Amino acid sequence: MLPRTMQLILFGPPGIGKGTQSALLVERLGLKHVSTGDLLRGAIRGGTALGQQAKAFIDAGRLVPGALVRGIANERLAEIGYDNVILDGYPRTVEQAEWVDEDFAAAGHPITVVVSITGDNEVIVERLAARGRPDDAPDIVRKRLAVYAAETAPVEDHYRQAGLLVTVDGEGDVEEVYGRIVQAIESVLVER
Ligand code: ADP
Repeated sequence: MLPRTMQLILFGPPGIGKGTQSALLVERLGLKHVSTGDLLRGAIRGGTALGQQAKAFIDAGRLVPGALVRGIANERLAEIGYDNVILDGYPRTVEQAEWVDEDFAAAGHPITVVVSITGDNEVIVERLAARGRPDDAPDIVRKRLAVYAAETAPVEDHYRQAGLLVTVDGEGDVEEVYGRIVQAIESVLVER
């Protein structure tokens, strides 16, 4: 049995399928999707000051400064509520993870579970090249993977230590991975 509400973080390298799986979790479990990548791209399209600041970082495959990301995420969360959400692409550093823990606890809806989707880098580069977003060019993707290894991967340990982490194999078809995610969430929540 899945809990009635949960605050879920979907974690994993670029291109592992977080966006695809988020869409299924939204459709089937009624979660609200918060993707900092989508929010930042929206700000760029909207021509906001924040969007203008973020664009150079995104185009280079680097992380956008954390304070900007926290601001844009919390702005959206204040609108839609901190309960029953799925965070996609946020947090991406240990510092951001500490903010997320703090901000969700302060809102009365602490993080319930962190699902880490794992997979092979070469598969990722190929998948992203097929997707064709401007920051999906192979050299930028390699940069994003390097940033991931250096700055984002440690977030996994942060949540392992907090007892919130489950890992799921991201290879195989979309439904297979979705099934693993739901099973993983159920198993970790039953154990508690
Ligand atoms: P992917 O999941 O494929 O890595 P995203 O859409 O999540 O792509 O993110 C695209 C880009 O947006 C990142 O490479 C980064 O520049 C920026 N970005 C998104 N989320 C964050 C974040 N939490 N912190 C810093 N930068 C971010």
